[in-house]
Amino acid sequence: MIRDNEGNKHVILMAEARADTRPALFLDRDGVLIEDRNHLKSPEGVRLYSGAKELIRRANTKGVPVIVVTNQSGIGRGYFSWPDYEAVSTTMLRLLGKNAKIAAIYANGYTSSSSPNDWRKPGCGMLAAAKKDLNIDLARSMLIGDRLTDLEAGVCADLAMVCHVLTGHGEKERSKVLKWWTMMSANQASRTVLKTIEDIESFRWLDHLSQKHPESQQDWQGPTSLEQCRIQ
Ligand SMILES: [Mg+2]
Repeated sequence: MIRDNEGNKHVILMAEARADTRPALFLDRDGVLIEDRNHLKSPEGVRLYSGAKELIRRANTKGVPVIVVTNQSGIGRGYFSWPDYEAVSTTMLRLLGKNAKIAAIYANGYTSSSSPNDWRKPGCGMLAAAKKDLNIDLARSMLIGDRLTDLEAGVCADLAMVCHVLTGHGEKERSKVLKWWTMMSANQASRTVLKTIEDIESFRWLDHLSQKHPESQQDWQGPTSLEQCRIQ
């Protein structure tokens, strides 16, 4: 685990960069991968969405690393601590199990009133860090989020595709997202709407990624527990 000196950036890195660049699947955490419990600080509150394991497992089998990027303003607001966050992360990884491996989790504790920085979405600093750490080809990657700011981060990073789900804050953000999409130019990220992450199968997303990057089909193996990835 890596925390910056100011205590606002947090990285759990569980995979290593490979020599070849690979596309990645970026997932927001709250409202996409696990239920949004509004500043979740207790591991007992972790609930995986239906389809989460299968989504990640399928990405793993195609050699596509799955990377979580999450704003945790509850840290900056003093609602909970990084150790609380780490306990939630440990439980999430345990529930995902050994067949649904996450390559890295990037988090930041900034609030909307923090001084400007690019790690808090809609900034794309967390995605840029993942590109550097894991040799990710952002132009072939995709992101799934429930808030407009997730998708904006994806476009900021020049991802190939951004997807919006209705879970979490998605229902109330959908009209804002659709309005935003109409203003995007055709050469920005392609976009799609989903009900839940389970619906991602409906547009053959893995084919989309692997056709663009056929060499990414090798199996990818990585650790699943925080203990295995402790850096410092
Ligand atoms: Mg969210």
